[in-house]
Amino acid sequence: MQNLILCCTFAENFKEMTRKNSNPDKTVDVVLIGAGIMSATLGMLLKELQPDITIEIFERLDVAAAESSDAWNNAGTGHSAFCELNYTPQQPDGSVETKKAISIAESFEVSKQFWSFLVKSKLVKSPETFIKSIPHMSFVWGEENVDFLRKRYEKLQESDLFKGMIYSEDFKQLAEWMPLVMKDRSATEKVAATRMELGTDVNFGALTRMMFSKLQTRPDVKLHFHHDVKKLKQKNGLWEVKVKDETTGQKRTVKAKFVFIGAGGGSLPLLEKAGIPEGNGFGGFPVSGQWLKCVNPDIIEQHNAKVYGKASVGAPPMSVPHLDTRMIDGKKALLFGPYAGFSTRFLKNGSLLDLPLSIKANNIRPMISAGLDNIPLTKYLIAQVRQSPEDRMAALREYFPGAKMEDWELETAGQRVQVIKKDEKHGGILEFGTEVVTAADGSIAALLGASPGASTAVSIMITLMERCFSDKIKTPQWQQKLKQMIPSYGESLNGNTQLTDNIRTQTTHALGL
Ligand SMILES: Cc1cc2nc3c(=O)[nH]c(=O)nc-3n(C[C@H](O)[C@H](O)[C@H](O)COP(=O)(O)OP(=O)(O)OC[C@H]3O[C@@H](n4cnc5c(N)ncnc54)[C@H](O)[C@@H]3O)c2cc1C
Repeated sequence: MQNLILCCTFAENFKEMTRKNSNPDKTVDVVLIGAGIMSATLGMLLKELQPDITIEIFERLDVAAAESSDAWNNAGTGHSAFCELNYTPQQPDGSVETKKAISIAESFEVSKQFWSFLVKSKLVKSPETFIKSIPHMSFVWGEENVDFLRKRYEKLQESDLFKGMIYSEDFKQLAEWMPLVMKDRSATEKVAATRMELGTDVNFGALTRMMFSKLQTRPDVKLHFHHDVKKLKQKNGLWEVKVKDETTGQKRTVKAKFVFIGAGGGSLPLLEKAGIPEGNGFGGFPVSGQWLKCVNPDIIEQHNAKVYGKASVGAPPMSVPHLDTRMIDGKKALLFGPYAGFSTRFLKNGSLLDLPLSIKANNIRPMISAGLDNIPLTKYLIAQVRQSPEDRMAALREYFPGAKMEDWELETAGQRVQVIKKDEKHGGILEFGTEVVTAADGSIAALLGASPGASTAVSIMITLMERCFSDKIKTPQWQQKLKQMIPSYGESLNGNTQLTDNIRTQTTHALGL
């Protein structure tokens, strides 16, 4: 009798074991697609807000942050709108619009607060491994541009977020700030610059990898490399995510209550596969990039700033040329660019078929309309693609007149997919910002676009949570935790001198800036 009971119990246990092992259809709270800075940020935030949340992360490559978030694939500028002239467009009446600049500056302060929290809580290593102080400068030449920069400076002074910015037209002063840029220039040339000491260089790749390393140690978080997400389907209120293990070739399905498509350039095809009506009409336009990277340590040593100029006519806003000091893996570096290019790939490690396969019945009209409305951009890209090494040097010499060909090497930067959106009036428009697309039921969200990107990841993910976790985010537990992680949460820094000063003092200290 006893043997029979034992036998039955074993049979039951075995049945349960086999059920568990052979059941690929397990349900998790959250699936994050892609291991870039966006998924890392959302994963970290959610795990802090709800420690028992279950998360699975799928990344097609063998390492985190190997696409746009990697240090050499982006410029590492902590975008605060201190130096980026495209965030302060000149209006037809000559005035300068600063709304976007203020919003980006605020968002970067939010990111710095969250990163300070991660450092103080020992969730990431010492801050110097991912963030460094570096002055942010704008530099222009010619009467008209100087006039624009002066007006921009004056207008920005109305906001505390830009307190500490210095404006100068003095040749000697400029030469002190950026000797390489001013050397071999005529002292009679009309030039001007602004300088903001509070600027930063961020190694988004290092930060992303640290966040994932920490996430992996938390209970109920699994990160799968070499796993390509192939399909997504909503069924009975859950998302079925079909994943292929590229090492074994095995396919499986994971069921999730919430899915974040944080696949960078790969987000658009996945959004199309998800088939949510909110995703209809979106298209993507890939713009590739290249840098000139300095290989002469003497030259690298002589430059100590991020110097941003004005984009040329027809250039997309993210192709603003800049001569940038970088700090990558503890080593100082210098880059110039980006030079734009065209490829039909949506990811650096993507396929040439990415663009053609993304064209669907619901987005063909917006894509054609956006194409027709952006002829100057097309011309600009053609000109960029046809550039010879001498042309690239000529562009560099506008910023560094004494540059020598042998001191510079060409590097491929990350791939950006600019958003094309349906538009009532034009049929379709090309956008240069980011777009969070969420389903009406909040069960899925995708991040499209690339700018201002990684610097504003925390604000973007908070907006996403407000839409997709709308009930939870209102609870006292989540509110309290958000306030702990981001002390200015729920308040505006712009117009609040004391709060801005307090927050900046705290983050500057915590991040060792
Ligand atoms: C040239 C350039 C310069 C830039 N400069 C700056 C800057 O100075 N400052 C700044 O703040 N931002 C900058 N950005 C923008 C910034 O790099 C991006 O906004 C940010 O890195 C995007 O992060 P992400 O997590 O969305 O995407 P990514 O870092 O690209 O990560 C997406 C991940 O998803 C994976 N993936 C894709 N498809 C799938 C799939 N089907 N299944 C599984 N995994 C998948 C990819 O392999 C990748 O690892 C720049 C970008 C470029 C290209």
